[in-house]
Amino acid sequence: MQLKIYNSLTGEKEIFKPILEGNVGMYVCGPTVYSNVHMGNVRTFMSFDFIYRTLMHLGYKVRYVRNITDAGHLTDDGDVNNDRFVKQSRLEKLEPMEIVQKYTVDFHNVLKTFNNLPPNIEPTATGHIIEQLELTKNLVEKGLAYESNGSVYFDVLEYNKRGLNYGELSKRNIDELFANTRDLDGQHEKKNPQDFALWKKASPEHIMKWPSPWGEGFPGWHLECTAMSTKYLGETFDIHGGGMDLKFPHHECEIAQGKACYGHAPVNYWMHANMLTLNGQKMSKSTGNTILPMELISGENNFFEKGFHPSVVRFFFLQAHYRSVVDLSNDALIASEKGFNRLMEAVKWLNGQSANSQQPTANSEWLNSWKQKCYGALTDDFNSPILISHLFEMVSFIFKLKDGKESISKEDLEDLKATLNAFVYDVLGLQNVEESNSEKLDGTLQVLIELRNQARKAKIYELSDQIRDKLLAEGIELKDGREGTTYVIN
Ligand code: AMP
Ligand code: ZN
Repeated sequence: MQLKIYNSLTGEKEIFKPILEGNVGMYVCGPTVYSNVHMGNVRTFMSFDFIYRTLMHLGYKVRYVRNITDAGHLTDDGDVNNDRFVKQSRLEKLEPMEIVQKYTVDFHNVLKTFNNLPPNIEPTATGHIIEQLELTKNLVEKGLAYESNGSVYFDVLEYNKRGLNYGELSKRNIDELFANTRDLDGQHEKKNPQDFALWKKASPEHIMKWPSPWGEGFPGWHLECTAMSTKYLGETFDIHGGGMDLKFPHHECEIAQGKACYGHAPVNYWMHANMLTLNGQKMSKSTGNTILPMELISGENNFFEKGFHPSVVRFFFLQAHYRSVVDLSNDALIASEKGFNRLMEAVKWLNGQSANSQQPTANSEWLNSWKQKCYGALTDDFNSPILISHLFEMVSFIFKLKDGKESISKEDLEDLKATLNAFVYDVLGLQNVEESNSEKLDGTLQVLIELRNQARKAKIYELSDQIRDKLLAEGIELKDGREGTTYVIN
């Protein structure tokens, strides 16, 4: 079955042909780590996690690169002194790099909570300043960038004069752009308002800055992704992804930088994940219309009547195609929770069935045609909602099996178990609620054991005994042995 991918550049579903057969190079724009990720960000990263998992399940060897933007992302007002990291570090009274670390850790924790797999390479913008300077020099030498007052800008008009077609991804008409763009960033420095910064001059009080041939400064946001994607995936690579809102200007600028530097398009398939809305409005840091992951999970928020398990949220997101808008609402989550529980109940029951108890009737044709439909959905531009609808056909069959109204052969039972588990756990990345709860309980008990040991070391026996006794009262007995402390749940 051939994999088809909707390419935002051509606006068509295309048969996927990787550059190197059997291998995929995929780059996804990562977060700007100056504040907590919200559920909208989570949706985009989850969409690409599902795409990554599907590609691997289909047998591709994937190199998945997702960056961390830890420098050079200015605030919307474009004021050079309002670097997002510097602004947040003033607010929180922390070093900019402490801000970066704090929110990178938060980002990793959140994505793990929703069972996203880590990328193969996670490069940072600050770790690739040299590469960004090299690209900037290259563009200046080619006459496609110019220095102005210590900053360097990409010359969009010159790029277009050379027939390179700025605006091809976002389908923007360049003449309109020239007529309508407000110049926020470097008012008097640019030749044209569309020219974008490759390198920005830093003021003396700016903290995050590096030396360059044009004086001290910091890189422009668009350049880091060109530098890091081509460094790890090559001058042309297979897939570039990100949220729909990054199409313009970010990805448009990446295409321009790539074509200008290397003389050819940097990416074969551009993929854009659609937005998450809350009460019908785009979830966004700047408007404050956001909900944080932990607020959604705990239920401590003003929008939902209760908390939802991360796997329920994951299931809810994947019930929509990655190119559709999803609106987060109480009713929709409650409905998803019911569906999720039914699916997991069916899988659990099926996994508990032994082949020996089944009848020897062969039914493979029917099972194979179901598998074909599932793979048909996966290979049709990663259609998770259609895949899920096929899984529910199987759920109905499994409940009939349970009630003795259907039968299945030994071979088919094993085949069905393997296939269903692969779709549910490996591809959709769902988790059993009880299992992940027991993992959490274990983690919590390890923390308490550690605290008790520390108290004992410090000879605060009153506290260490209190921890032991209170746990015992909850039915959890601690046992001290030569290998350390273990626990038994009575
Ligand atoms: P940022 O940290 O702002 O660069 O955003 C990280 C990723 O989250 C980008 O790919 C954005 O496109 C994506 N994103 C931001 N807001 C939303 C939203 N409401 N729904 C889905 N994705 C979003
Ligand atoms: Zn990017």
